[in-house]
Amino acid sequence: MTIQERIAKLKKEKNAVILAHYYARPEVQDIADYLGDSLGLSKLAAGTDADIIVFCGVHFMAETAAIISPQKTVLSPDPDAGCSLADSATAEGLVKWKKEHPDGIIVSYVNTTAAVKAVTDYCCTSANALEVIKALSEDRPVLFGPDRNLGSYISAVTGKKMDIWDGACVVHDVMSTEMIDNALRIHPEADILIHPEAACSSDKSLLDNSRVYFYSTAGMLKHVADSEKKEFVIATETDTIHSLEKENADKRFIPVSPCAVCAEMKKVTLEKVLDCLENETGKVILDEEISRKALIPIERMMAM
Ligand code: 13P
Ligand code: SF4
Repeated sequence: MTIQERIAKLKKEKNAVILAHYYARPEVQDIADYLGDSLGLSKLAAGTDADIIVFCGVHFMAETAAIISPQKTVLSPDPDAGCSLADSATAEGLVKWKKEHPDGIIVSYVNTTAAVKAVTDYCCTSANALEVIKALSEDRPVLFGPDRNLGSYISAVTGKKMDIWDGACVVHDVMSTEMIDNALRIHPEADILIHPEAACSSDKSLLDNSRVYFYSTAGMLKHVADSEKKEFVIATETDTIHSLEKENADKRFIPVSPCAVCAEMKKVTLEKVLDCLENETGKVILDEEISRKALIPIERMMAM
């Protein structure tokens, strides 16, 4: 049997479901039952009736699934797959920040640890960040973390002044206005799709450009499916292009930079998926109290 067949057989025997992020390796995306962005995968984790969730993404994503579905077994094929953004904020740091702004509302991007979520008022993802911020009371200051680029993007679009944590994603933080300007010039027929974690996401000249769009990864897939255009420059992790090409064989995708690779996501290989299904390794185990508290801002986000 091939490794893919062995995974499929075990999945059936154990009533498991495989969820994968669009940044996963192409061969891992191909064996997933569901692909999605952070928001979509959280919803799938909440709705599945499988006994085991194998989460092919970085650790905070598997942790989020375990917080949402505490009765399920959530397996992480590589529990060491981290995230530079999630690493840039600690629960202690947020508690100190809140003490300095006692009337503030803490909004945390979902790219955070369970401990950070446990001291957060509202979670958001790149797909719903604008809606979450717009829905909050005007009277209270917002403390937004940990991504300074997403925070600046939200402020630029909504006009809402926020205190913003100084964290960033190593993959998106190098995506500059200059890079996008070059792409606009070299590909005059293309739409440019940018993830709001990119360093250039609050640049007014780009926000005002009719060929430039800001999306979560799932938002990019929807834009392409709905568009008449044939060419797209993709300013996010390059393996998103695997799904884009599979779903849109007649369209052309150009990565804004071929170096935009999340090395942490690539730690999840087919061999590790097989091992984790076979031996039920990589089980996400959370402190019960932290998990219970971390669920509150996620549920508030889902309710919006
Ligand atoms: P999405 O919210 O688009 O899934 O992005 C998650 C992420 O890690 C981006 O770097
Ligand atoms: Fe984290 Fe950046 Fe990788 Fe996304 S691309 S998982 S934010 S390190």
